[in-house]
Amino acid sequence: MANPLYDGLFGIHAGKGTPFLQLLDGTTISHQDFLGKAAQIAHVATHLGLNPGDRVGAQVEKTPEALALYAACAQAGLVFLPLNTAYTVDELTYFIENSGASLIICDTEREGKLTPVGAQLGARVETLNADGTGSLTDLAATMPTRFETVARDGEDLAAFLYTSGTTGRSKGAMLTQNNLLSNARTLVKEWRFTSQDVLLHALPIFHTHGLFVATNIMLAAGGCMIWLPKFDLDQIIDKLPCATSMMGVPTFYTRLLDDPRFTRELATHMRLFVSGSAPLRAETHVQFEERTGHRILERYGMTETNMNTSNPYDGERRAGTVGHPLPGVELKICDSDGNTPPAGEIGTIEVRGPNVFKGYWQMPEKTAAELRDNGFFITGDLGRIDEDGYVHIVGRNKDLIISGGYNIYPKEIEMVLDDQPGVLESAVIGVPHPDFGETVVGVIVAEPGQTPDPEAITGAVREGLARFKHPRKLIVLDELPRNTMGKVQKNILRDRYKDLFM
Ligand code: ATP
Ligand code: MG
Repeated sequence: MANPLYDGLFGIHAGKGTPFLQLLDGTTISHQDFLGKAAQIAHVATHLGLNPGDRVGAQVEKTPEALALYAACAQAGLVFLPLNTAYTVDELTYFIENSGASLIICDTEREGKLTPVGAQLGARVETLNADGTGSLTDLAATMPTRFETVARDGEDLAAFLYTSGTTGRSKGAMLTQNNLLSNARTLVKEWRFTSQDVLLHALPIFHTHGLFVATNIMLAAGGCMIWLPKFDLDQIIDKLPCATSMMGVPTFYTRLLDDPRFTRELATHMRLFVSGSAPLRAETHVQFEERTGHRILERYGMTETNMNTSNPYDGERRAGTVGHPLPGVELKICDSDGNTPPAGEIGTIEVRGPNVFKGYWQMPEKTAAELRDNGFFITGDLGRIDEDGYVHIVGRNKDLIISGGYNIYPKEIEMVLDDQPGVLESAVIGVPHPDFGETVVGVIVAEPGQTPDPEAITGAVREGLARFKHPRKLIVLDELPRNTMGKVQKNILRDRYKDLFM
C-alpha cells in the first residue's frame, strides 16, 4: 500500500548500502541501516499505542536517531512535530497542549520537568540524548528492523512545523505529504542534486531549512550528508573539502568570510552554496564571490510553504533578489485588497502551489485571514518583481513604517546605513511618534574595532534619502537581537524603543 512521502524519500533506498550520513567521529550510516533504525522507532511508536494521524513532538539534539524519528513518523503515518531545542519547559507546554501530541521525545535532562506536563496533557514522554542514548533508543534496540509501511494519502498530514516566531507567537503549520514531497522533487531538479552529492549539513533540523529543504532534497536525490550537530567554524573548515554543496543562513556565510582559513582552495570541490531564511546582504554575496569564485544561490521560503522562489542554477544569480518562482509555484504581488498593483511596485507577496500548507493547526481565524479561498497564501512579506522577473523582498508587512501617511520600507534605509564606514549591519524600525504616528529609528552595529560616527552617518543618509525616511535617531548596539534561526527580531527592538518619542 502506498505512502507517498515514505516511499518517495525513504523507501526508494531500501536495501542500499550507499552512504547516507557521515558523522563527526568518522563513522558512516548507510541508507539501509538508517531505514532499519527508522523501522525500529516506528515499531516503538506502534507498541506505545500511537495510531496514524497522532502527533509526535520532538525536542531533541541533531543526531542520526533524531532524523530516524522523522522517517519513523512518515512510515507509521504519524505527524512529526519538531521543536526548537531552545524552547523552555513553559514554551514546550504550549506546544504539547496546542498540538495535542501523544508522544514527546526529549533530552533526559528535560524528562523530569516534562513528565508531569505530559501526564497532565495525556502525552507519554521518552528520551533521546545528544549522544544517541535514551529510553527511545533502548526500546528501539529490541525491535525488528523492518516495519510494514502504513498506507497514507498524499493529502494526509505529515508534519506540524511551528513558525520561527519572529513576528509573534509561533503558529503550527499543517504540512501534507504532497507539500513536502513536491517541493523536494522540484528543488532536486532546480539545484541539480544527484546521488553523487555530499551536502555539508550544519543547520538545525527543527526548522524547514535544515529538515524539509536540506534533508528531503538529499533523500530524494540519494546523496550523502556530512551530519554536523551545529554550525562550528572549525568543523566546517575541516569538512568543506569533502563536500559538494552546503546550505546555510546568511550568518553562516558572513562567519566563514570572517575566517582567513576560508579560501578559494577550500571551496574548489564545491558546486553549490545556498542561502535563505533571512536576507543575504548584497555585500556578502559580492565578497563571497571575490573570495571563492562561487556565487551564493539565494532562495526564499517559509514554514508554511517550503520554498517559493530561487535564483537560477545556470542563469544570473542576482544579489539582493530571491530569484524567480519555482516551477509549479504561482507568485503575485498584491495590494491589501488582493488586487495587483502596476508592474514593479511593492506589495504583499502571495503564493499558490502544491507546496502551500493546509492551514494553521487549531487557528481557523488566522487560517481564514491568510489563506484565500482561491488557494493563495498571503505571506506577510513585502516585495516587488523587477523587469526580468526577479523577486525582491523588501521586508515584512509588520515591519512597514507608516510615518505622516508615507509608507517607508526599512530595507531601503538599512541598505544606506549598511554602506556607511564602520557599520557592520543595521535594523530600521518604526516607533510611535505623537505627530507622525510612527517615526524611523535606525539601530546599527559597529564593525569589530570600529566606532561609527552617528553624525557623519546622519549626514550621509540625508543626502541619499528623502526627508521623511531619515532616521530620527541612530542607536548603536553591540549586536541585534536574533532568534535561533539568525533572524533579526524587530518586535523586540520596537518594544525596547517604543517610548523614545512619547
Ligand atoms: P513567524 O511567522 O512566526 O513570525 P518567521 O516568519 O520568521 O516567523 P519562518 O517560516 O521560519 O518563520 O521564516 C519565513 C520568513 O523568513 C519569510 O516569510 C521571510 O520573511 C523570511 N525569509 C526567508 N528567506 C528569505 C530570504 N531569502 N530573504 C529575505 N527573507 C527571507
Ligand atoms: Mg512567518
